[in-house]
Amino acid sequence: MENLYVQKLNVSFDGFKALDIDIFEVQQNELRVVIGPNGAGKTTLLDVLCGKTRPDEGTAIFRDRDLTKLSEDEIVSLGIGRKFQAPTVFTSLSVFDNLMLAIKTDRGVFASLMHRLQRGERRRIEEVAERTGLADVLDVLAGTLSHGQKQWLEIAMVILQDPTLLLVDEPAAGMSDEETYKTGEMLQNLAKDRSMIVIEHDMEFVRQIARKVTVLHEGRVLMEGNMDEVQNDPRVIECYLGSAMHREESNVAG
Ligand code: ADP
Ligand code: MG
Repeated sequence: MENLYVQKLNVSFDGFKALDIDIFEVQQNELRVVIGPNGAGKTTLLDVLCGKTRPDEGTAIFRDRDLTKLSEDEIVSLGIGRKFQAPTVFTSLSVFDNLMLAIKTDRGVFASLMHRLQRGERRRIEEVAERTGLADVLDVLAGTLSHGQKQWLEIAMVILQDPTLLLVDEPAAGMSDEETYKTGEMLQNLAKDRSMIVIEHDMEFVRQIARKVTVLHEGRVLMEGNMDEVQNDPRVIECYLGSAMHREESNVAG
């Protein structure tokens, strides 16, 4: 089974309950969007799933293993990949070389760059570049990419590790509307081959990609449902959409 099953997950920071999840389940090949106001515990959830944060209690079962007992490396080996909020690309290397370094390998950076690519590896890099909007910039220095393209490069680098479950935290942050839309299409396409948990704030983006949505609030699962159910849920409007709409209104007002 390739589904993720989280149960009774508790994380506290100095007595403050950041996460208190009863049950959270993601099916194989599902694209799940997690929303919720700032401080709801969204990033903490991903931190637990990738082994960065240890919960006080609870289990997160994936492929018959409990992620809360594994190291970050073991979790990566198990097929869970994480795209972090801040891009960490080698700016003085080309996009292609960055992708080459991302291919699963035990070689160091220098040895990897000197290594002659096998035919299959090159084709795979080109295929992933195609799917992440990078096909035309493979020879460009990563440092000269736009903010959006850097995010896509990071997504491509994680995809090259071929994760079964991909965790993505606020992929559209800081992107232009056009980049945001492209990112939505990209994630939907990449989700065909794997499970994905996407955390996002931008409601238009959520609407674009969402199937099932989980709403977190004060560390708890407030509700789950499709976009219509979420948008029309009074509790969600109260805790989240209401405040988001107020923000939009006040922005319009100046
Ligand atoms: P979200 O991603 O939904 O905005 P987070 O998961 O980042 O929320 O944070 C949830 C709560 O836990 C917040 O109140 C945050 O301040 C707190 N928190 C997160 N990480 C830490 C930490 N390492 N130490 C102390 N408090 C933290
Ligand atoms: Mg966060």
